[in-house]
Amino acid sequence: MDSTGGWGHLRWCGWARGNGWRRISRMVPNTPNTWEVDWFSLSAVILLLCTAPFLVFFFVMVCDQYQCSVSQPLVELYSGEATLRSIWDKAPSFTWTAAQIYTVWVSFQVVLYMCVPDVTHKFLPGYAGGVQDGARTPAGLINKYEINGLQSWLITHALWYANAQYFHWFSPTIIFDNWIPLLWCTNILGYAVSTFAFVKAYLFPTNAEDCKFTGNVFYNYMMGIEFNPRIGKWFDFKLFFNGRPGIVAWTLINLSYAAKQQELYGYVTNSMILVNVLQAIYVLDFFWNEAWYLKTIDICHDHFGWYLGWGDCVWLPFLYTLQGLYLVYNPVQLSTAHAAAVLLLGLVGYYVFRSTNHQKDLFRRTEGKCSVWGKKPTFIECAYRSGDGGLHHSKLMTSGFWGVARHLNYTGDLMGSLAYCAACGFGHIHPYFYIVYMTILLVHRCVRDEHRCSSKYGKDWKRYTDAVPYRLLPGIF
Ligand code: NDP
Repeated sequence: MDSTGGWGHLRWCGWARGNGWRRISRMVPNTPNTWEVDWFSLSAVILLLCTAPFLVFFFVMVCDQYQCSVSQPLVELYSGEATLRSIWDKAPSFTWTAAQIYTVWVSFQVVLYMCVPDVTHKFLPGYAGGVQDGARTPAGLINKYEINGLQSWLITHALWYANAQYFHWFSPTIIFDNWIPLLWCTNILGYAVSTFAFVKAYLFPTNAEDCKFTGNVFYNYMMGIEFNPRIGKWFDFKLFFNGRPGIVAWTLINLSYAAKQQELYGYVTNSMILVNVLQAIYVLDFFWNEAWYLKTIDICHDHFGWYLGWGDCVWLPFLYTLQGLYLVYNPVQLSTAHAAAVLLLGLVGYYVFRSTNHQKDLFRRTEGKCSVWGKKPTFIECAYRSGDGGLHHSKLMTSGFWGVARHLNYTGDLMGSLAYCAACGFGHIHPYFYIVYMTILLVHRCVRDEHRCSSKYGKDWKRYTDAVPYRLLPGIF
């Protein structure tokens, strides 16, 4: 699950476009590959680097100072009632308390990730945990991963529950109460990790053959150079930072918001319960399928730079949880019909998202020897060439959800995202930022993936797009 989506307008000069991928000259370790970045990508990268941290600050600050109204600060700035300085001065700053909380949090997640091998797969039927293989990297490596995210999530939440019910070491509102100071701490970690990964790629890359250099320093910093940076044999940056501390924290952040509602108003609204439940399903799905995640675009194609490092530390925990934050300041109680409609939309979206992903996974694992919607799946045989010139074969499914549209998993994801936003009622646009962002992210991701697939499969991809003409919405897009 990446948080900013990446930019795909690259031209890799060393690849010939034909019926598949073919590299003209073999990559020499430590010799920079020749990538060219067009001006559009470069401007987008610089714009994002400069604006994303302020965008996150803006969406959190407007709740703290303007009850989540996004227009009010702009009106005040325009009329001269407020200045950027006065808004900035009113916002809480870095605190050592927040630094201590965040240090304990990240250290605890590192310990769970590195020192507690997975045992849950031994007693949870159908769960694939423990040591698993990743996909083959462009240089031909297959990395091993310790999949213990579900276990980390369970231990963390059991401790959270034990604290809230019995131990009372800290208040369950601790996250909300330190939210803006924590934003400072997550930014420090996000920039530190991205900068470390950038420098590491030049000085001591984990695998030099899998490095990608564009010759443009901003692009390298943002999109990453190393494919799978690691410290030692097991500390994998992508797996750790993407899943924990951000996604494990997601459900805790929501619980902290619910606790704050209880403290402030003496009750928790049905909208807050809906947001907690629907997002918990999504988070648990992610950890249940963590081994499957090793085969998604984030791990298989993206390099580790600022957009993954900073995005996972800052963007994801702060902007994916905007609905709960909004509901602390605006405790919306939904009518039964509204709540039922949101629940239905969320569950149908989840069903489409999960089933589509599952169908492809099953189809690829069994090489098409399976049943999808009660029938043998139909598919298109494809051929492509890998970096070393070898000819490979693959299959693109044209039945089940993959026969309805080319990315119905994204459509399901978007339906779920809309449900989280709709749970907040229609009083403000603030909680709807999420669906706008997810639409941009997934449409852009879809286009960039198809661009890659078209380069990889050539005329076979054309046969596939003729057979399944729509991307996200049959008949529309
Ligand atoms: P997909 O799981 O859709 O994988 C795309 C790849 O699947 C293609 O590159 C191609 O790879 C293969 N493929 C494409 N069409 C077919 C077909 N018809 N039959 C078989 N294989 C096919 O993409 P993602 O990794 O982006 O997404 C995984 C999930 O994660 C999605 O459900 C998405 O919604 C979710 N997600 C959530 C995010 C969030 O922030 N909440 C962010 C990003 C993703 P190949 O080269 O192997 O042929």
